[in-house]
Amino acid sequence: GELLKINNVGYTYHSLDGETTALKDISFHVNDGEFLAIVGPSGCGKSTLLSLIAGLISPDTGEILIDGKNLKSSGKNIGYMLQKDHLLEWRSTQKNLTLGLEIQHKLTDSSYVCINEMLSTYGLITFRNSKPSSLSGGMRQRAALIRTLLLEPDILLLDEPFSALDYQTRIEVSDDIWGIIRKEHKTAILITHDISEAMPTKLLFLFST
Ligand code: ADP
Ligand code: ADP
Repeated sequence: GELLKINNVGYTYHSLDGETTALKDISFHVNDGEFLAIVGPSGCGKSTLLSLIAGLISPDTGEILIDGKNLKSSGKNIGYMLQKDHLLEWRSTQKNLTLGLEIQHKLTDSSYVCINEMLSTYGLITFRNSKPSSLSGGMRQRAALIRTLLLEPDILLLDEPFSALDYQTRIEVSDDIWGIIRKEHKTAILITHDISEAMPTKLLFLFST
């Protein structure tokens, strides 16, 4: 069924430079298990749209519904993976992974079982106690992926998650993510410049306002 509904959403930034309308009257929906790719020119509002869905900012007009409710009362988790991995350099890799769970007071002994499994799966187990600076770009992005997945998101938001990686690494890491999305039928929304990198089930073109 329909998991995410965007109804006539608009958003304007107010700053010292004036107002920028990033989105105007956007409507679409995403069904449970669908994989939506968003494409469009730079500045057309793609990142703003993901920030709205993630609940980091609120729409000026229209509404965003998850299971017919607003984000908070839906009880759904949204995972947001950005271009930059935003790993904290002073924490070990493992402590970066547990941070989100700690903040949500969900870190338990069984979290570590899960973390260890994922670290093994993604070839990071021996780097568990190392600082992120000792990881390669692909490893860092995998760590960021694990950090996001540990929160068991109902919707996975990906904002050009591989743009900082070289071609070979991008192929390796992206295979991991597409594998997860397909295997678990995870509902996902991806911003990309290259729709051939993924195999989305649905495509949204955004144009500049
Ligand atoms: P995209 O992700 O498609 O490149 P964005 O959502 O980042 O587009 O930006 C949409 C528009 O909003 C652009 O004109 C951008 O300059 C503007 N914008 C984005 N973030 C801010 C901000 N924090 N303050 C002011 N304007 C912003
Ligand atoms: P602290 O800063 O308190 O040392 P840690 O993350 O090192 O925090 O450890 C928190 C708890 O989780 C400890 O009881 C530790 O033994 C356990 N723990 C830490 N890492 C692992 C792991 N990889 N597998 C299982 N248990 C772990």
